[in-house]
Amino acid sequence: MATSPNTVSERVRTILACLIRELGPTFQLKDLTLFVSQCRGKLLRFDEVPLPPGVVGTCIALADVDLITTRSGLDTLLRLQSQLHEVAHLLLQDVPRLSFGPDTPNHATFVAAREQYIAATRRGPGFDSAQELDAELLAAMLLEIVTAHTGSSSLFPQTFFSGCR
Ligand SMILES: [Zn+2]
Repeated sequence: MATSPNTVSERVRTILACLIRELGPTFQLKDLTLFVSQCRGKLLRFDEVPLPPGVVGTCIALADVDLITTRSGLDTLLRLQSQLHEVAHLLLQDVPRLSFGPDTPNHATFVAAREQYIAATRRGPGFDSAQELDAELLAAMLLEIVTAHTGSSSLFPQTFFSGCR
């Protein structure tokens, strides 16, 4: 069924409802990071490095961690937007559990040959426009939630992953 570009898809709505149920109406990036780590069964790490032209952020599922990399030198808001866009891809399950199948390296191996691995992922099929639209919408809502958060903690520890899937 076709959806208009302004329609929030069912999967974005479902994920958002789950996040609010689990983390509260607002939460911090660190709470979201813990939650995603729980859902994915591995740590979510953030990194900043120089990236190829045209790439602001990337997410690669390694054997031991999920790694979100943003371009070094971004201003604070753009970095947060880029990080949340990649987190949204993880929440939407656009990113596979292992980016290179059985050849997926661990974090240490990846870092030693980062440029080759990033180039290899860029040669892959990438996400389609519906996936990008969903990620953008979800990231925009996450940005609202994270920037609206003023408390020192969210509900996360109390309701720790009662299951969203
Ligand atoms: Zn994207």
